[in-house]
Amino acid sequence: MGKTVAIVLAAGRGKRMQSDVAKQYLLVRNKPILYYSLKAFQDSSVDEIILVTAESEIAYCKDEIVEKYEFSKVSQIVAGGKERYHSVHNGLKACKDVDIVLIHDGARPFVDDAIIARNINMVKEYGACVTGMPVKDTIKIADAEGFVQETPRRDLIWAIQTPQTFRYDLIRNAYDTFINNEEVNCKSYNVTDDAMVAELFGGLKVKLVEGSYNNVKITTPEDMVLAEAILG
Ligand code: C5P
Repeated sequence: MGKTVAIVLAAGRGKRMQSDVAKQYLLVRNKPILYYSLKAFQDSSVDEIILVTAESEIAYCKDEIVEKYEFSKVSQIVAGGKERYHSVHNGLKACKDVDIVLIHDGARPFVDDAIIARNINMVKEYGACVTGMPVKDTIKIADAEGFVQETPRRDLIWAIQTPQTFRYDLIRNAYDTFINNEEVNCKSYNVTDDAMVAELFGGLKVKLVEGSYNNVKITTPEDMVLAEAILG
């Protein structure tokens, strides 16, 4: 049996936060957002955590987060890339003897043990699964002029979160296929999550796993207020 590893992504710049500090390092209750994401995996059944961050932030992560808070499961801190999918691929390439990989946005601090456990159980059965929640709002597809084109059935729409969890060999092959022909593939598809890579380049059927409405991604300044409220 190989290991179960969490790849935690923290190499984004977070332009929508309008802050000089990348959003995963902003403080909520005196601790960086990334602390809460790492803590959830540290306290879970995963064997190891691979943290992906910007090259220039590796030393800060090591000293001020991993060592300071004694995250003993963090086995490697590796440099990310320009796009999220480059960072994921770098994390995947750092994996050794891994059976199951959970890919998680470091900017989602409220992932919890129940979500992680559901992912690990489901991936054993299905090979590929992603966390999400049914949407509460009606969703409309717009045309290029800003008019409503279509209203899909709300009961079939899920908002996707992370972790996104896969058998390692399956997602590694899918990512290698995607990246090997990146330029062409990116012209055809706007890849925004790992499930898309699994579906398009691995031919995988991806199972939806229930997350939580608290498992938000901290993206804009208003989300910092929400984060304080969730912790409160
Ligand atoms: O930018 P976005 O909100 O989609 O980022 C989601 C997660 O992916 C964040 O935790 C961010 O740090 C990470 N990311 C990354 N490398 C990039 C872009 C985003 O690790 N190049």
